[in-house]
Amino acid sequence: MSQATQPAQKHYDVVIVGGAMMGSSTAWFLTNNPDFNGSVLVVERDPSYEFCSTSHTNSCMRQQFSSNLNVRISQFAADFVKNIRTHMGGDTRVPELSIHNFGYMYLADNEAFADVLRESVGVQHAAGAATQLMTPEQIKANYPFYNVDDIVLGSINTVDEGYWEGITVFDWWRRQARERGVEYIANEVVAMTRNPAGRRIDSVTLASGETVSCGQVVNASGPRADRTAQMAGIRLPVEPRKRFTWIFTAEQPLDRDLPLTIDPSGVHFRQDGKDAYMAGGHSDVDPAVEFDDFEMDHNLWQEHIWPVLATRVPQFEAIKVQREWAGHYAYNVFDHNAIMGPHTEVENFVFLNGFSGHGLQQSPAMGRGTAEFLTYGEYRSLDMSPFNYERIPNNNPFIEKAII
Ligand SMILES: Cc1cc2nc3c(=O)[nH]c(=O)nc-3n(C[C@H](O)[C@H](O)[C@H](O)COP(=O)(O)OP(=O)(O)OC[C@H]3O[C@@H](n4cnc5c(N)ncnc54)[C@H](O)[C@@H]3O)c2cc1C
Repeated sequence: MSQATQPAQKHYDVVIVGGAMMGSSTAWFLTNNPDFNGSVLVVERDPSYEFCSTSHTNSCMRQQFSSNLNVRISQFAADFVKNIRTHMGGDTRVPELSIHNFGYMYLADNEAFADVLRESVGVQHAAGAATQLMTPEQIKANYPFYNVDDIVLGSINTVDEGYWEGITVFDWWRRQARERGVEYIANEVVAMTRNPAGRRIDSVTLASGETVSCGQVVNASGPRADRTAQMAGIRLPVEPRKRFTWIFTAEQPLDRDLPLTIDPSGVHFRQDGKDAYMAGGHSDVDPAVEFDDFEMDHNLWQEHIWPVLATRVPQFEAIKVQREWAGHYAYNVFDHNAIMGPHTEVENFVFLNGFSGHGLQQSPAMGRGTAEFLTYGEYRSLDMSPFNYERIPNNNPFIEKAII
């Protein structure tokens, strides 16, 4: 199916700005809702998706969050992935998927962070997650390759926590959404026009010059979230922050799966397929970057990441980098959580932004919730209202502590 650049109509009930994971999830969930029978236009400035967060993701999910809502969102992600064919109407072309449950191992080297883990485990258990706290001795018994000399506590969950094929889900959402009538165009939204009262977006303007009138607009533009919001006269505390990933092999591979380990230094690393490992991290100086700045920081690997790996897993002294890349988090500097739902004044401008590095796993619940909001004006499956925009002007943060 080739992609058009021009919209077929002058008006759409829903215009989605950005067609990657969030935009496509929303488009698909709209088509999957029998109560929605409107028209949908997805405008995507880069249909190769080469530079979006979705293409640079590490594609993992976890149940270890500090709020009940974020745990429930990941529970739906796990259910969606494990039952994808059923969720997608029994379409036999859709492959069956599973989760590689190596778990996330959070390591605390001080009592203050150990207390955070203890508190979060209470939240997770209440929501039905299977997290276990581990003493350094238990960690060593289960994962002998770790150096735990400085560790006071760990927490891990090996149920619905690990790698999943996010890009396959993305491909199928996009494909089925288009087959069901959603129009995707390769174009860019460059401006928006508000009605005279300033309370609605009447139309969006495309880079090619056309104006498209719209019932509702969804901002699914990832790290460009604030730029898109500014077209509607709104500011968002969401910045592009650079995050690096390295894939490496070890001269002496580990004898069991390496959990996604969150070292106290902030460096994280995990199993990546049978014979490789993945590490991720960022510089201590972590400013907002230009949208097109994907330059690697080679010193970071040499001076920081590799030494951390070799200290935590001595077998990782002898490793070889196979691939590396830089990507952007859409980082919510206000409270590290999603911003979702309508603006307080521009009522048909709907946010889907600020996922701060955990958006891939949130995409099923976010798309479902946004589709419900667009259809009914309210959430039906899971109450997503704690993510509302109002909390920002009201200075009422909904903090997520478990940020990687
Ligand atoms: C290195 C890295 C590792 C990550 N690891 C994980 C992980 O393990 N688990 C997890 O859950 N999440 C992870 N994430 C986060 C996750 O990948 C993102 O939260 C998610 O992909 C966000 O999807 P999105 O659709 O909101 O944004 P994006 O994928 O960035 O898509 C936004 C799209 O909008 C388009 N766009 C922007 N402006 C316009 C415009 N004006 N007009 C038209 N189109 C426009 C862009 O071209 C882009 O395609 C990671 C992210 C990174 C960078």
